[in-house]
Amino acid sequence: MNSVRASAPQLADITPYDPKYLPARAYLSANENPCDVETEVRNEIKREINKVAFNRYPDPLANELRDMIAEANGLDRDCVLVGNGGDELLFDIALAWGGPGRKFLNMPPTFSVYQNNAELTNTEVVDIPRLADYTIDEEAVLSRVARGDIDYVIVTSPNNPTGDLADERFILRLLDATDALVMVDEAYFEFSRGTVRPYLAQHKNLVILRTFSKAFSLAGVRVGYLLGNPEVIREFLKVRQPYSVDAVSQAIARVVFRNRAKFERGIMQIVSERGRVFRELSQMPGITAYPSNANYILFRAEGAGEVWQQLYDRGILVRDFSRAPMLQDCLRVSIGSPEENDEFLAALREILPK
Ligand SMILES: *Cc1c(COP(=O)(O)O)cnc(C)c1O
Repeated sequence: MNSVRASAPQLADITPYDPKYLPARAYLSANENPCDVETEVRNEIKREINKVAFNRYPDPLANELRDMIAEANGLDRDCVLVGNGGDELLFDIALAWGGPGRKFLNMPPTFSVYQNNAELTNTEVVDIPRLADYTIDEEAVLSRVARGDIDYVIVTSPNNPTGDLADERFILRLLDATDALVMVDEAYFEFSRGTVRPYLAQHKNLVILRTFSKAFSLAGVRVGYLLGNPEVIREFLKVRQPYSVDAVSQAIARVVFRNRAKFERGIMQIVSERGRVFRELSQMPGITAYPSNANYILFRAEGAGEVWQQLYDRGILVRDFSRAPMLQDCLRVSIGSPEENDEFLAALREILPK
């Protein structure tokens, strides 16, 4: 047969995820850490990988790593689940709490992966758009969940791509207003220092998502994790791929987690550079920069598509959201090394009309 029948109908409107990762001199488009893992830690990783038996299946639950994460967070092992990046766990929430006849409450503009996963699993997406300044429309969310038919909610804090933190008091009110599973996506919490972890003990419907991809320089390795109630984690165990986190990734993540204090300086530099880039952006005519608690800044510039191109022509890759819903004329720049940030700012000054 040289033809094939149509794939599942829910795929019809989905476009494959494309990070538009083009070759560039300064990669400021994917919120990665500008510094790779330092040599000393890398050498420790090599020794750890040397001990891995490649012919054996990995520990399906990455229990050694799981125990380290649990201990650091004052939790038991069964409150932690390690995944193949945060992305796997975001797919798993749609499998476990979504599905035909079920509803996901989304707060766009936010991470597009959430909506995609809902569509793939035939979950209805209930959008409560953010306000004009991109903060959450808290009252609208609370009154919508009060109707009692929402199955899961994802609160991104700091939000990607807008950078704002969700108000902790709002998250608490949300947790009390619904028995829907509320995931707080803390992919960038190391840059904001805010976490709702203390609320896990009192709120069975709270689950927290974290990742090694941003603050811990492991975007290329694919490790993320959940913190949650054992009853919730158990449901995730039912839908996950048994061996999704390979033995090499487990070994790398263990070493990095053990050495996490060594990443502190880099995180502090990103936070201080974020302040500098924000101040400089705010002073540029025609630019509106949105305050950020993460390692990136969203900014609006007239003719953003053209600005993106001219930055790219100068070797600087940022993320173009200018055609995304609610993000007209917006670009997102990840905080890079001080030199990369200088290059970005100088290029932008050159490009903008005087
Ligand atoms: C980067 C990111 C993640 C997880 O990324 P992984 O690399 O899959 O761990 C999750 N949520 C948000 C909002 C992100 O930006």
